[in-house]
Amino acid sequence: MQPLKYLGAYSDQTLAQVTQLIEQNKLGDVLKQRYPAAHDVRTDRALYDYVQDLKSEFLRNADPINKVAFDGKLHVIQHALGLHTTISRVQGNKLKSKHEIRVATVFKDAPIEFLRMIAVHELAHVKEKQHGKAFYKLCCYMEPNYHQYEFDLRLYLTELDISGKRLWNAT
Ligand SMILES: [Zn+2]
Repeated sequence: MQPLKYLGAYSDQTLAQVTQLIEQNKLGDVLKQRYPAAHDVRTDRALYDYVQDLKSEFLRNADPINKVAFDGKLHVIQHALGLHTTISRVQGNKLKSKHEIRVATVFKDAPIEFLRMIAVHELAHVKEKQHGKAFYKLCCYMEPNYHQYEFDLRLYLTELDISGKRLWNAT
């Protein structure tokens, strides 16, 4: 079996459980049971609104987000589930930052919890650059189940690698 490349940060015990699910061919079923339905955020416009709503609920005072889009060229292989970029430039005597958030297109056909996890992650980067304590605290403030969703999302990427089949299809 190939190594569980999306799950490197988890304990041996957890990996053993995942391996067992894979060997019993049950990983996909477990995920479908836990997350029965796909979300309906289908366009860049809808994604933009979704992220802005989260931002105004939790990070009202953070810098504005200039652009939000699905990105088919984002390779989840490189552990990039989403991408946040900041372009800083001097305008007059002020430093202005432009924030862009991109979400890998594979998450168009996914449960809302996965999209939320990525949106929360990328929004947290507007305030915290590094993946430190403060960063994850901010993620959990926006979504208390953040860590569970991230784990399940990584399980899905693992399942996708093995089966090549998307578990959720938009209706
Ligand atoms: Zn990050």
